[in-house]
Amino acid sequence: MRADCLSKFLLHDRSARVLCTQVDQTWQRAQQNQPQSPCVRQLLGELVAAATLLSANLKHDGSLLLQLQGNGVVKLIVVECRHDLSLRATIRLNREPKPDEMGLQALLNADGQGRFSVILAPPKDKPQRQPYQGIVPLRADSVAGVLQDYMAQSEQLETRIWLAADASELGGLMLQRMPAQDNMPSPESDTWAQAQALCETVTSEDLLSLDQDTLLHRLFWEMPVISLQTLPIQWRCDCSRERVAGMLRSLGQTEVDDIVREQGCIEVTCEFCGSPYLFDRVDAAALFETLAPQESPRLH
Ligand SMILES: [Zn+2]
Repeated sequence: MRADCLSKFLLHDRSARVLCTQVDQTWQRAQQNQPQSPCVRQLLGELVAAATLLSANLKHDGSLLLQLQGNGVVKLIVVECRHDLSLRATIRLNREPKPDEMGLQALLNADGQGRFSVILAPPKDKPQRQPYQGIVPLRADSVAGVLQDYMAQSEQLETRIWLAADASELGGLMLQRMPAQDNMPSPESDTWAQAQALCETVTSEDLLSLDQDTLLHRLFWEMPVISLQTLPIQWRCDCSRERVAGMLRSLGQTEVDDIVREQGCIEVTCEFCGSPYLFDRVDAAALFETLAPQESPRLH
């Protein structure tokens, strides 16, 4: 069994870096409380792999949120990946897909209004920092294509991404051109093209079955690469009763009172991990007795 991890490599002339991700046990855990439809899970899986690759660009200790939003079958797919490569993911469907509805465009962008957004959230202990948000329309028909559109718009660093997902394994490969530096010899002009050509030969089967050293050796056997770092990836949901309470406070007392009047209590299930949170009449009343000024509506 492969270990869940992200590995970083550098081309020998430092003109580009290669990131390799493999996410197996974490992916199996992430799917447990999510809708069963295989074609929607495929998109979720590719977005999870993508989030681990993009999290390598996190410049602070916050977290990265990748969101695919649509008005068709899929309402929302969210992956949250933190700086320590712990992650959680969820899907919200408007309805179950029909058998002929497959692929990103059919599931998310039937009306052309689908969006992909990248949010860099500040650390939870520094909520005063402004989050960054970048949004692109869904032009490509794959998660990798949508990501490349986003990178082209926002990053200035030329980036190529390959992703693969099945029911139990995820794999991904990212090739990113490094900015030229004055104090370095100018990179051999054909290294980038050569590295791209080598990565182009990767198959979904390779990404899903090979460990990273084997994969790198297979792709780059004729071009030396420098191994930089390997970091473990793990599933983690950080929902808590406090965060759910904050979300309920943000609804306002009138709405909370209405729900309690209609249902006798409030039951919230975490959409990521499925944990139930129950607030009875007394708990609900207590929510508004001491208002915390920092609470804001967030994913609970
Ligand atoms: Zn949870």
